[in-house]
Amino acid sequence: MSVGRTGAYDKHYRWYGSGVTSDTEIDPDETTADTEPTGSAPEDLDLGGVVARSRAGSSFSLDDHDPRDTFGWDKEAAKARVLSEIAVVAELQKLLFAERKQALLVVLQAMDAAGKDGVLRTVLTGLNPAGVHVTSFGVPSEEELAHDFLWRVHRQTPAKGQIGVFNRSHYEDVLVVRVKGLAPAKVWKKRYDHIAAFERTLVDDGTAVVKLYLNVSNEKQRERLQDRVDSPDERWKFRRGDLEDRKLWPDYMAAYTEAIRRTDADHAPWYVVPADRKWVRNLVVARILRHELEQLDPKFPPPEPGIAGTIVE
Ligand code: AMP
Ligand code: MG
Repeated sequence: MSVGRTGAYDKHYRWYGSGVTSDTEIDPDETTADTEPTGSAPEDLDLGGVVARSRAGSSFSLDDHDPRDTFGWDKEAAKARVLSEIAVVAELQKLLFAERKQALLVVLQAMDAAGKDGVLRTVLTGLNPAGVHVTSFGVPSEEELAHDFLWRVHRQTPAKGQIGVFNRSHYEDVLVVRVKGLAPAKVWKKRYDHIAAFERTLVDDGTAVVKLYLNVSNEKQRERLQDRVDSPDERWKFRRGDLEDRKLWPDYMAAYTEAIRRTDADHAPWYVVPADRKWVRNLVVARILRHELEQLDPKFPPPEPGIAGTIVE
């Protein structure tokens, strides 16, 4: 897996480091196991309508999405099922990688402490690292600010055969930029259309785009930020700026709502993932990734003619 960070260099930022273990949610060795679901769980193919019920849609309202939703799952069943979902995702990734004709871009957006890093650790475990490209988008550098807002983004989109994951993304340019007034309204207001056109370009060229909003509640964010302050293992993740963003919560919710409404499209859907419970969040993300890869339906390329039956000496 290649990981990159774009934006001004931040010496306090660590990416993965030498094993961020305190809240690793699953044992990486388990993820390739052929685990069957256990315990009580809805039986239908879509895990109780997870994909359909998480779709945002252009009339989306946060009121319709409960951050504590479980979709009828209990914790033990979900934890087992996420492993088998990841195993399916890994099989599909193998085909995508071999085929090299299509790509998948996964955009992760959320408030602080909603679990973007947790999703990366959990759901991407077990994938072939050679086929995954993760980019974290931080505060733009001087060079990045000297270009149009999509410049730094476009160069990180996945190549054919790859799964690209954006930890934050071009959406920050209509979220933090809007909420903190980092650009005039007449600038950021045009960006919804620019974003829609950009994503259309990617899709038309063979890159599927899926956008995930990890929906954490205000109260759960408070709890998790407090845990970060209180726990020596997690304190490194905490920044004072997180509190400023927290104070602006209603403005962020309004900005997310408009961004999601205006850029949801069948070819580049938004999903709202309940994020107050890590085990629900992981299950839903894994299921959506599986769904998106199944839509792409990648296939092994045909071998060179006459290979079958060749004896290797
Ligand atoms: P984190 O992902 O929590 O490590 O923090 C990255 C920070 O970069 C967040 O506070 C984002 O709001 C900020 N950021 C990301 N993209 C932009 C952008 N285009 N303009 C300004 N700030 C940004
Ligand atoms: Mg942060």
